[in-house]
Amino acid sequence: MNWQQLLSQARIRWQRFMYGRNGADQLTVFVLTIAVFMALIAGVFRLPYLQLIYYAGVFWALYRTLSRSLVKRRLENQFFLHQTRKMASWFRIQRRIVGDWGTHRHFKCPNCKQRLRVPKGKGKIKITCSRCGEQFSRRS
Ligand SMILES: [Zn+2]
Repeated sequence: MNWQQLLSQARIRWQRFMYGRNGADQLTVFVLTIAVFMALIAGVFRLPYLQLIYYAGVFWALYRTLSRSLVKRRLENQFFLHQTRKMASWFRIQRRIVGDWGTHRHFKCPNCKQRLRVPKGKGKIKITCSRCGEQFSRRS
């Protein structure tokens, strides 16, 4: 038996083990991220009690990943996504702005606050809001 067969056998075993379990969802990834962040802070500032939050977070993430109560875990995840959707969309927008660096600029409509994306380097341009039709000029 070569290592590739071993690997695929391990994968099948893993899939069988994870069958009917929740797996890692967004809430679990978020909890793990916070936990690792806490561990880093605990290490840098020598705060041992913060390390407890790290262990609690890892334990909870593991519990959720291996849990067979799929409905409960899904509801928790949905609740989490609902609570954080504004923050998530803010992060998405920031990532888009960074990705557009050098090619596009982003403005907010002064009337309705709609975000507008225009090509960069066209000088002073008149922008028409796609939502409310408000016109305003900005340097692109
Ligand atoms: Zn507008």
